[in-house]
Amino acid sequence: MKNIIVAGGGHGGIAAGMLLAEKGFDVTVYEQKSEGTLGYDWTDIFAPSALSAIGLPLPPVTQFEYKENMTFYGPSGSGGLRQDIPPEKLEIKMERRDIYKYLITNAEERGVKFVYDCPVLSPITAGDRVIGIKTGQGDVYGDLVIDACGLNSPLRQGLPESFGVPAEVGKNNRFYVYRAFYNKGSDEPVKDKYKVILFGEGILGVAWVATEENYTDLLVGRFEPFDLAEAERAADYYRQENPSLGTELVRGGQFVEIPVRWPLAKLVANGYAAIGDAAYMTVPIIGSGIANSLKAARMLADTVLADADGAYSAATLWGYQRNYYQKLGNGFALLACVKEALTVFTPADLDYLFDHGVINARDMSIDADTTDIFSVMKKNTARDMQAKLSGVIKDPVLLKKMLRVGGKITALSAVLGMQPTFYNKATVDLWVRMYERAIAAGI
Ligand SMILES: Cc1cc2nc3c(=O)[nH]c(=O)nc-3n(C[C@H](O)[C@H](O)[C@H](O)COP(=O)(O)OP(=O)(O)OC[C@H]3O[C@@H](n4cnc5c(N)ncnc54)[C@H](O)[C@@H]3O)c2cc1C
Repeated sequence: MKNIIVAGGGHGGIAAGMLLAEKGFDVTVYEQKSEGTLGYDWTDIFAPSALSAIGLPLPPVTQFEYKENMTFYGPSGSGGLRQDIPPEKLEIKMERRDIYKYLITNAEERGVKFVYDCPVLSPITAGDRVIGIKTGQGDVYGDLVIDACGLNSPLRQGLPESFGVPAEVGKNNRFYVYRAFYNKGSDEPVKDKYKVILFGEGILGVAWVATEENYTDLLVGRFEPFDLAEAERAADYYRQENPSLGTELVRGGQFVEIPVRWPLAKLVANGYAAIGDAAYMTVPIIGSGIANSLKAARMLADTVLADADGAYSAATLWGYQRNYYQKLGNGFALLACVKEALTVFTPADLDYLFDHGVINARDMSIDADTTDIFSVMKKNTARDMQAKLSGVIKDPVLLKKMLRVGGKITALSAVLGMQPTFYNKATVDLWVRMYERAIAAGI
């Protein structure tokens, strides 16, 4: 029986393990946290179609609700762009701990074993192959190591350079987030239940204030790290405009990092496959990664099952990379250019874009099916496009920036189109260098 190591209890790793265990593979997850403590003390939203991709039904209705539309504001209060997502495309909102409980229960029922309190330290390699992992509880060996250790994976970072899997996340590609639930400061009805503020206080980043029935959810996210004193100062700032945000911390209050960048250039090596945040599978402009990790789990499991010889080499696992990029990764890579554009726009640029209809409510209506820039643009009418064009043309400095973003998207599209169909180490290494160069090119 083939032996699969899932390093770290990331969502995609558990789901891929579940799909392989039900086909008779011997799967063990090695997780640094203790049993029952995976996830965060807050709710998350994701596309329910991701559960059907891994063959699971929706959880009991008491465990989730449908997400509501959000309203987006620019730095000086411009915008007020309210999403209008059709009900059938709304994502679901669940407690993170319940998402984990649901995945782990189903995985265990199909035979996946979990080893908790077990930090994964580094890969064990022999020649050009990953053959196991070093953990705090000793060395373990397997036929395939699935890296589900998240953004700072010691496996991805510990692979020899010759394996061709780039280790570094890169500047402006980590989003530093503080998230906390506070008591209700006021019970007065609010105009916008889910308010998202871009570049609030003129600081490069995003904040949201979501007024729920029993608490108010605050998120402050930036491209530079910040400390608790700064998070509390920012919370006070948002309290001035949002009296529903109380001062008593009731849940969360944690700092976490989210990858917001181009997908990992090479997801596989001999005996190794990366998934989830370890492979930067988030939607770069919003940081959602749960659904993509689950969909990738199905792709990885299908590729492993198709490898009748059980080689699990870079060549046989390449089908996973190709499938992921074609279905999701190519679209996310181009969306990452849009995210990068935000880092070169000034707060005044952003207000201008909101005020002149260059960014409109349709653009912000990102739903469960938003996987690329074209699915966003397709929602716009001819009149919307005319407004965008005339708004951009009126501001030559902004126009120049937009043209540079367009240039980068075009160049990157060409490189994505050249991703090798079949695995050959020299050709893939060359493509990885081209891709990395294209994403490193400034705008
Ligand atoms: C504040 C915040 C809000 C978010 N909101 C959403 C949302 O609403 N919707 C959405 O889709 N996504 C959201 N995300 C992103 C989402 O959390 C990730 O994209 C998603 O969880 C996929 O990541 P993962 O499971 O691969 O990795 P992770 O969630 O990072 O899980 C990795 C696992 O591996 C374990 N691990 C790490 N290192 C080691 C090690 N050395 N040894 C052993 N175990 C290890 C960790 O303990 C953890 O259990 C949010 C993220 C944050 C921070």
